[in-house]
Amino acid sequence: MRYLWTPWRMEFIRSPKPDVCVFCAKVHADDDVEHIVARGERVYVTLNKYPYNNGHLLVIPYEHVPSIEDLDDATLLEMMQMTNKAIQALRAAMQPHGFNVGINLGAEAGAGIREHVHLHIVPRWAADSNFMTILADTRTIPQLLDETYRELKAHWPKDDA
Ligand SMILES: [Zn+2]
Repeated sequence: MRYLWTPWRMEFIRSPKPDVCVFCAKVHADDDVEHIVARGERVYVTLNKYPYNNGHLLVIPYEHVPSIEDLDDATLLEMMQMTNKAIQALRAAMQPHGFNVGINLGAEAGAGIREHVHLHIVPRWAADSNFMTILADTRTIPQLLDETYRELKAHWPKDDA
């Protein structure tokens, strides 16, 4: 992915790694503090703190396992259902032109947190290659995450759909 070596990625790579898995810590965290956009029975959806693009979401099972091979069918199903809802919310809130959806398994494949499997949803726009430059000049990452979080919560599809 072409954003791999942006300053934000370097910030992630250099940041200290806590002993407790960050994705497990979020399971019991405050939604508003940790930008947890939605919770299901088996998975939750959160904004990536180190986004490739504005609106970069992660779909994460509550279960701490390294690969989708370790998940049961119900969890796999809910992961994809949540992915669909996330795409719908992103479409409604941000009108992206396309998406990258994917899972990195193993450090060599680019997984930052390889012990706890997670699915990336990255909205894409035709002109999004300048996103980092524009952002660096105008807003801080926490402000942007707060704004995006509110927008996606407001546009998250209702369960009766
Ligand atoms: Zn974990």
